[in-house]
Amino acid sequence: MPGCEGKSGLPDRRLPAAVRGFMEPEEGERLYELALEAGRRGPCLEIGGFCGKSTLYLGSGCRDAGGILYSIDHHRGSEEHQPGEEYFDPALWDPRLGRVNSFTEFIRTVERGGLTETVVPIVSASATAARSWATPLSLVLIDGGHSYAAAFADYNGWAGHLMPGGFLAIHDIFSNPEAGGQAPRQIYKLAAGSGLFRRLPMTGSLGVLQRRTIGEMPMEHRFV
Ligand code: MG
Repeated sequence: MPGCEGKSGLPDRRLPAAVRGFMEPEEGERLYELALEAGRRGPCLEIGGFCGKSTLYLGSGCRDAGGILYSIDHHRGSEEHQPGEEYFDPALWDPRLGRVNSFTEFIRTVERGGLTETVVPIVSASATAARSWATPLSLVLIDGGHSYAAAFADYNGWAGHLMPGGFLAIHDIFSNPEAGGQAPRQIYKLAAGSGLFRRLPMTGSLGVLQRRTIGEMPMEHRFV
């Protein structure tokens, strides 16, 4: 969208509305607020950038905080985006590569959002990128593959990099299995039950936890 390069504040709602992907405006605006706070303390990271809808919100918050957002995605589409599957989109089929390719759309969104100086794309499977990652993170959004194996790998690979006070956000948490797959909810419950995170209010299907600071006691897990 011309004219919004470098503008501060939430992205104009028309911008994310025009981007492929699944995220309600209220959920995205919560991510903006979290990134605005977290981005002052350290880099933020999202898993599952897809076409850049969540990236617009997180990236805008990081930009306004003077921070940075790493956005990980292999950009080959998840299981449900493949030909013959429920969410296959012919517009994302790349005939030269012979596969789904969401990276062109992603980078277009980043440029339209005025976020090229804030967003660092990492075109990789999340588990590969996690193998030698060593930078403490102030926010991690898990919004990648929805199989249990994929969701657990994202949680296992990245939650340990959160700095004390850092936010762990998990998208697509549905208590009713008919509303959506249960893997994101399962890793949310793992994190909440670990005692290492404090639960913050949810927004829609977006669960938010905060890594406890050193020395903080999880009173809801008191030993009997
Ligand atoms: Mg999602």
